[in-house]
Amino acid sequence: MDAIVEQLGTALRAALVFLGAFGLALWLSTAIWVFRDIRARTRDIFAVLLALLLVLLLPFAGMLLYLLLRPRETLAEQYERSLEEEALLQEIEERNVCPACHESVEDDFLLCPNCSTRLKNRCTNCTRMMKLDWNICPYCGT
Ligand SMILES: [Zn+2]
Ligand SMILES: [Zn+2]
Repeated sequence: MDAIVEQLGTALRAALVFLGAFGLALWLSTAIWVFRDIRARTRDIFAVLLALLLVLLLPFAGMLLYLLLRPRETLAEQYERSLEEEALLQEIEERNVCPACHESVEDDFLLCPNCSTRLKNRCTNCTRMMKLDWNICPYCGT
């Protein structure tokens, strides 16, 4: 009888040691994961320290809190988004549109094909395109 109890005790102790080691490893890995994750999301050293403290002081619960509070976007995603926005802005700037109806027009149109607003003037001397607000032709000096 004693032998069985002793064996059970040993097995229980082994299981506890194993669980403890496993928990410790899990706790450390969450801390490492959070450290990497927050570094990808912010350059703010205080935010990094705060996130690390959170998961180290509150094992597992801190991890949940971190997931709720962390910045939504990674730095790479932010960078990508700013590039996309820039490209979009540039596209809008480069695209020629009629000032009256905002229909897209070609660079060398004299009139808007949609609402026939005058877009450009033609120089009477050299027949090149002139912008409406030009008083003299920059090509021939008329
Ligand atoms: Zn138009
Ligand atoms: Zn001219």
